[in-house]
Amino acid sequence: MRELIDKLYENTVLSKEEYRYLIENFSPEVSEYLFEKAREIRHRYYGHDVYVRGLIEFTNYCKNDCYYCGIRCSNRNAERYRLSKDDILLCCREGYALGFRTFVLQGGEDTYFTDDKIVDIIRAVKTNYPDCAVTLSIGEKEHDSYQAFFDAGADRYLLRHETANNNHYAKLHPEKLSPVHRKNCLYDLKKIGYQVGCGFMVGSPYQTSEHLAEDMLFLKALQPHMVGIGPFIAQHDTPFKNMSNGTLALTLFMLGLIRLTLPYVLLPSTTALGTIHPLGREKGILAGANVVMPNLSPVAVRKKYMLYDNKICTGDEAAECKNCLQARMKSIGYNVVTSRGDCKTMHNA
Ligand code: SAH
Repeated sequence: MRELIDKLYENTVLSKEEYRYLIENFSPEVSEYLFEKAREIRHRYYGHDVYVRGLIEFTNYCKNDCYYCGIRCSNRNAERYRLSKDDILLCCREGYALGFRTFVLQGGEDTYFTDDKIVDIIRAVKTNYPDCAVTLSIGEKEHDSYQAFFDAGADRYLLRHETANNNHYAKLHPEKLSPVHRKNCLYDLKKIGYQVGCGFMVGSPYQTSEHLAEDMLFLKALQPHMVGIGPFIAQHDTPFKNMSNGTLALTLFMLGLIRLTLPYVLLPSTTALGTIHPLGREKGILAGANVVMPNLSPVAVRKKYMLYDNKICTGDEAAECKNCLQARMKSIGYNVVTSRGDCKTMHNA
């Protein structure tokens, strides 16, 4: 086991069988060995800095019906909301004062927000905060839409591929959602010049260690700037309400493997990880993550963006979230920094 981790550390890639073997057989001791190596690499590129992104969840309307997600269109119990451009700018103003230099605009696939409306919002944020990065996370669009958002000033795009295996993808999504289209979106985004993030849920229903090994190979092929992963957490109004959640141990192990596979990558310790364990985000950083994403959404709408059950931080003001995370990072010897926090070694023209 340790030899395989040494091999990954040296070569930054393993075969599918080797990844699968590690994922199936890791122990707490092997995990600790992996995390030490992961931290060494992370410190080499990013020191003890932790980047922060202000997350603005601006709409929970969604035309899609993903079986795992609490804001799927068939969920009649979800109370829908949208933020206006002015609401979004207010979130940015508050965030800027708190030191945020990246704003992540995330939402369901909401047809109300036409390309023109999104372009207008991006322009407004970039005009008011030219020293900040804008990250979009609004799902699958056509190439020309992505181009228009990029031309308007968007810097980064998060689109988790969810699973690299097409059969597994079909077990998590209705038939009309295509894994091939989703992956093509990621390649389009990269070609346009975005800093791109993909990612997946750990422990999603029907996931096998082979699927996770395929996810690792997909990461290696795409070479994203960012990778977002977190445990699957059942949401009580979805078809997956009775499925078991992903585990802390496997999520942390995957974080460590990702750090060794993509040494430069921007890797968030996610809210979902903090939801399944009180110290989940600290443990994520210690397994190789280097980004946290406190919530900047207005408290009035926080509880409505419920992708999964028991999501943390839904009652806290942005400042509380920032301070809390700062203290948590400090407690493990890391520093939250105020900067755009771009990827260190991959540059876009
Ligand atoms: N509509 C956007 C944003 C999706 S929400 C898009 O398509 O990219 C962001 C991420 O939350 C999803 O990509 C998914 O991986 C994660 N997510 C959704 N439901 C979840 C659940 N029940 N448990 C854990 N993560 C979940």
